[in-house]
Amino acid sequence: MINTSVFQNKKAAYFTLGCKLNFSETSTFGKMLADLGVRIAGEGDVADICLVNTCSVTEVADHKCRQAIHRLVRNNPGAFVIVTGCYAQLESESVSKIEGVDLVLGSDEKANLIQFLSDAWTAKESAAELNEGGKVESLHEYHSVKTKMIKSFAPSCSRGNRTRYFLKVQDGCDYYCTYCTIPYARGNSRNPTIASLVAQAEEAAREGGKEIVLTGVNIGDFGKTTGEGFLDLCKALDKVEGIERYRISSMEPDLLSDELIDFCSQSSAFMPHFHIPLQSGSDEVLKLMHRRYDKTLFAHKIELIKQKMPDAFIGVDVMVGCRGETPECFEECYEFLDDVDVTQLHVFPYSERPGTAALRIPYVVNDAEKKVRSKRLLDLSEQKRIEFYARYIGTEQEVLFEKAARGKAMHGFTSNYVRVELPAKLAKEEYDNQILRVRMGEFNRDKSALQVELL
Ligand code: SF4
Repeated sequence: MINTSVFQNKKAAYFTLGCKLNFSETSTFGKMLADLGVRIAGEGDVADICLVNTCSVTEVADHKCRQAIHRLVRNNPGAFVIVTGCYAQLESESVSKIEGVDLVLGSDEKANLIQFLSDAWTAKESAAELNEGGKVESLHEYHSVKTKMIKSFAPSCSRGNRTRYFLKVQDGCDYYCTYCTIPYARGNSRNPTIASLVAQAEEAAREGGKEIVLTGVNIGDFGKTTGEGFLDLCKALDKVEGIERYRISSMEPDLLSDELIDFCSQSSAFMPHFHIPLQSGSDEVLKLMHRRYDKTLFAHKIELIKQKMPDAFIGVDVMVGCRGETPECFEECYEFLDDVDVTQLHVFPYSERPGTAALRIPYVVNDAEKKVRSKRLLDLSEQKRIEFYARYIGTEQEVLFEKAARGKAMHGFTSNYVRVELPAKLAKEEYDNQILRVRMGEFNRDKSALQVELL
């Protein structure tokens, strides 16, 4: 039983690190706490509850998590501090020992966050009553089952304060790429039913949502739990009234089926926008990474997308400097990316992760070289994105506008993910979350968007 009265009018501070999935989950935790009467702590408020949703994708991410916990503890003396997410799963015991931490929940336990919080809150209050002078000690409690036992699925469909909804359709991963810790942190691939996801999309539509981003860890693997397929999910979501735009957050090249590409080209709601983690344009490196495709398959997918949707925006993840990436392998990767018709590269320098198979590969790239390689790919990315944007100058497009601070320019995206800017003098609050027709003008000052006027 949860005693909700103890949470009435309490204030909570949230801090999230990492991917869209984490942001979406934090926002769901926020919603659940709001249902118990917990408000968001405003600027200058001392929070009663602090929640940190952590990431462990790199060493830097781990460090940032610890820093965030220390900062929240320092700024919110006496607050009940909960830590969850990937770093909390991988390092639950050591995270629980950090000064001020009350409760650490691993990837399986976070689905029952409210129950754990309620129990631990009561325990902390009782301990404080027994202590002389009511001195409040941190609980330093942690709950996390072994990776193989992670079975629960914490549903999440949240807008947070963004215009777009993020609908979590899948969690975990069975791929075990050699450089990645995610399968250890999030467990095996699992998913809810199509019917439950359609119900969440319908709810988002009722709340006025127009665009939903489908998120997950390896969403092309959707169906492991229910025997359904990702394409079936897309077909079902396509029929939800009110949702005018869907985007697929990321899809492994080997799981991006030709049928799915064909479906997106026919659907008016699934946008011509793809995000594909390539990781390397060298077959030798792809093999070392245990990726399940080669560059020929990747090139075929890009060709098919462009043949069916010439305007499609294609974002690509690339990892540089991983073990085994010799200068020759990197040059091969660079040339491949230069040739292939993609729009933007998301470049990540490789980071050593304890316990991963990649550590057994002897060839190591030093940090200075990783920086040089990252810079070359980032320059290539910028050149490709600018060429892509320039094609749309002078055209008419439909843009979903996003909330902006009063007196500031508004931003939004076309169906094929070109970022646009409506100058402050033309911006109006009522354009927020509206799909409006615009004429695309020249680049804005920093070339991050095209300036537009409304038609
Ligand atoms: S597909 Fe590979 S890189 Fe992606 S989450 Fe799974 S193991 Fe990690």
